Amino acid sequence: MKTCSFCGHTEIKNTKVQYLYKHDNHFLLVNGVPCEECEFCGEQYFAASTLKKIEKEFISIHNKKKQPKKKLSMPVEDFSDLEAA
Ligand SMILES: [Zn+2]
Repeated sequence: MKTCSFCGHTEIKNTKVQYLYKHDNHFLLVNGVPCEECEFCGEQYFAASTLKKIEKEFISIHNKKKQPKKKLSMPVEDFSDLEAA
């Protein structure tokens, strides 16, 4: 039986989530990534092979060897500006 290494609970379900890969201020958002999620604390566990695939895809896109399926533009803020307002 699997145990959550974060909280120690054993209720871990297989699910699919949105995963944001970050590297040097570059991002790749991947939808429908399989993972195991602790039902108690929400900690997510990804298989090493899954993360490798995402990393490889990120590198291909970043090196312009491949076009992403879609591009998003998103609003960006600094929290210090929010506090000043
Ligand atoms: Zn947990």
